[in-house]
Amino acid sequence: MRTIRCPECGKRFVGSDNIVMSLMNTLNHKECSNFHPKVILDEGTYKGITDKYSFFKDYRIVN
Ligand SMILES: [Zn+2]
Repeated sequence: MRTIRCPECGKRFVGSDNIVMSLMNTLNHKECSNFHPKVILDEGTYKGITDKYSFFKDYRIVN
């Protein structure tokens, strides 16, 4: 399983982290994000977002 790091704080996401996804399909922690609200495409937990979008399937948390 691959993981993604938050580009702002550098920490790897865990399943329960609250994250935001931009129009560019980049992920940031919600609390780290400096995205303008207009570029936020979706938000939720890391597990929820990676389960929802097929292009994140290699990054899903499986357990
Ligand atoms: Zn972060």
